[in-house]
Amino acid sequence: MAASHEEEHPVKAFGYAASDTSGLLSPFKFSRRATGEKDVQFKVLYCGICHSDLHQIKNEWGFTKYPIVPGHEIVGVVTEVGSKVEKFKAGDKVGVGCLVGSCRKCDNCANDLENYCPLSVQTYNDLRTTTYGGYSDIMVADEHFVVRWPESLPMEAAPLLCAGITTYSPLKYFGLDKPGMHIGVVGLGGLGHMAVKYAKAFGTKVTVISTSPSKKQEALERLGADLFLVSTDPEQIKAGMATLDGIIDTVSAVHALLPLIGLLKSHGKLIMVGAPEKPLEIHMFPLLMGRKLIAGSCIGGMKETQEMLDFSAKHNITPEVEIVPADYVNTAMDRLKKSDVRYRFVLDIGKTLKAA
Ligand code: NAP
Ligand code: ZN
Repeated sequence: MAASHEEEHPVKAFGYAASDTSGLLSPFKFSRRATGEKDVQFKVLYCGICHSDLHQIKNEWGFTKYPIVPGHEIVGVVTEVGSKVEKFKAGDKVGVGCLVGSCRKCDNCANDLENYCPLSVQTYNDLRTTTYGGYSDIMVADEHFVVRWPESLPMEAAPLLCAGITTYSPLKYFGLDKPGMHIGVVGLGGLGHMAVKYAKAFGTKVTVISTSPSKKQEALERLGADLFLVSTDPEQIKAGMATLDGIIDTVSAVHALLPLIGLLKSHGKLIMVGAPEKPLEIHMFPLLMGRKLIAGSCIGGMKETQEMLDFSAKHNITPEVEIVPADYVNTAMDRLKKSDVRYRFVLDIGKTLKAA
């Protein structure tokens, strides 16, 4: 008889799971695999709340398997390593982002782009196997998918592991990191505020394009943006026409792309990182007239994720976070839905997650 999931996963774990499309998260007991030869097991201290967690607990993307334990911005301290682990030892500070596996053989993997491997394994809600994320007390992952947490970064900066890399990677890959360029950031949430910070660190001029006039003062004074456009005000959009070299669009819901394409100069690039549940409409003429480009980008590979962490540590770039207790998670989801967060919730798992 084949071994049961519990036999193959003898390590008791505890966290928060949603069990249906209401997305309501409740205390949940489950189990994880024993630490394998190449595995790192760690105690979770902090886990960020990404809008992708919200999309998936409510099955907005259509592929959620319940029960789902979300969380892919996970930071903690190593408790145990397997006999063949080379990079880590007990006591090290580490992180796990959106990936815990890939084929390690395909062209993407060979080029440090595990994030584009067709067999990549997601940290939770993976399509092919059962994985549980970081709203939980412990994690275990192959050391290849574990990153070293720089000593000078606070551990509550966990959102770097998704919000950070998802905005750092396209700014670099699409060449939107050249000093003097003018970059737009659409949606000032978890991803958007990190895009502003990296774009500024690369020496570009930054315009935030937002639906929330209430975020203007903070965007300019605290996050360092140069300009702020309210996207629902046609006059403000008109004034910004043909001024941007590139745009990082982080919006989580269906929204109009036409005004954004208009904001781009000729040859400007509109990079989509947000993942709304329904398709968006693209008008062709404004794209053709100016040889403009629309592209997508998904997190980053393991090598680039470590590079982004080291860059963030060196330049003192950290997310603005609201640290909340684990049992605040459902309230945090309700507030995230309303874009009511400055600018990322982080669960204080280490101090507040208590086994039932
Ligand atoms: P978030 O914190 O909720 O930020 C999204 C922002 O979008 C909001 O703060 C809001 O900014 C704006 N927005 C929300 N609804 C809008 C609407 N109807 N029209 C226009 N703007 C709206 O979410 P997040 O965690 O940054 O994630 C953003 C998106 O990226 C999600 O879809 C998520 O799944 C996706 N994601 C993708 C990747 C990837 O690898 N590509 C990685 C992580 C997340 P304003 O108040 O400023 O308008
Ligand atoms: Zn995420």
